[in-house]
Amino acid sequence: MTIKLTGKPVTKEIYSQIRVEIEENNLTPKLVIIIIGEDPASKYYIQNLEKKGSKVGIAVETKSYQVSITQNDILKEIENLNNDPTVHGIMIQKPLPSQLNESEIVMKISPDKDMDGFHPLNVGNLVLDRKGFLPSTPAAVLEMLKFYNIETSGKNIVIIGRSNIVGKPLANLLLRKSKTGNATVTVCHSKTQDLSKVCKKADILIAAIGRAFFVKPEMIKNNAIVIDVGVNRIGDPEKGYRYVGDVDYEACFDKVLSITPVPGGVGTVTTAMLLNNVLVAARKVI
Ligand code: NAP
Repeated sequence: MTIKLTGKPVTKEIYSQIRVEIEENNLTPKLVIIIIGEDPASKYYIQNLEKKGSKVGIAVETKSYQVSITQNDILKEIENLNNDPTVHGIMIQKPLPSQLNESEIVMKISPDKDMDGFHPLNVGNLVLDRKGFLPSTPAAVLEMLKFYNIETSGKNIVIIGRSNIVGKPLANLLLRKSKTGNATVTVCHSKTQDLSKVCKKADILIAAIGRAFFVKPEMIKNNAIVIDVGVNRIGDPEKGYRYVGDVDYEACFDKVLSITPVPGGVGTVTTAMLLNNVLVAARKVI
């Protein structure tokens, strides 16, 4: 029988650990999110983060700016937040308006407050297996593998997607000599030849593409484990729209050993991992 790998029991454990640590150590962790413009999906995500944060004792403050903000003004704001001892974590909500230089903005955030784990110092630490902030989505995938006791050592893991925020960091984490590593990792992308054949070799298939229902049963080995990172908004005749993953969940369900749903899978745990980063940052200051 196929096992549904839901995020809820994973987050329950993470949030209860966060609460205990905050109380025991009398911490007041604070995350500041910078949002530029009026992207409704970003706003929805941040509201959710604020709610989750307040439930576990992490303050989440949002600083909203007009799309016309200049590079200098945003850099100044980051400088202020870097120097503010009451702020433990900084996050810049994407997408950014085109006039802004994203790379310079990411570099400006203190690596000690870089909750996304995008600063080159944290990226380097990840690759070199040193301590640092991990990007929340790859961290969420690892947390799910750990929670559900999914063995990665010696397994063929295929990741579809090579982005800097999901595919690449995840590949490096799964290669680590660690409990959730030691895998043989293949990373696919839009230029991969014979993608189905490559995917079919996977003991664990991870989809991070951004295309609804992209992964079909014929791309999956019998009894594989499927982790769906994708979140795609599609039309729905009743509700107007709904979110689905990169995997054709219904069609693949009977073929796999276990699979993460969308929504209710990796995305749920991603939020918890981000808040956990804020706790770690606050603890470091103490
Ligand atoms: P991205 O930056 O757009 O990267 C997508 C990757 O998929 C690229 O490497 C691209 O290849 C590859 N790709 C696209 N079409 C392909 C095809 N036909 N065959 C093979 N590979 C193909 O996306 P992302 O930011 O990594 O996000 C991926 C998905 O995860 C999205 O649905 C996003 O919403 C979701 N996401 C979820 C969470 C979460 O917490 N659950 C967090 C972040 C993102 P090229 O490099 O060759 O273009």
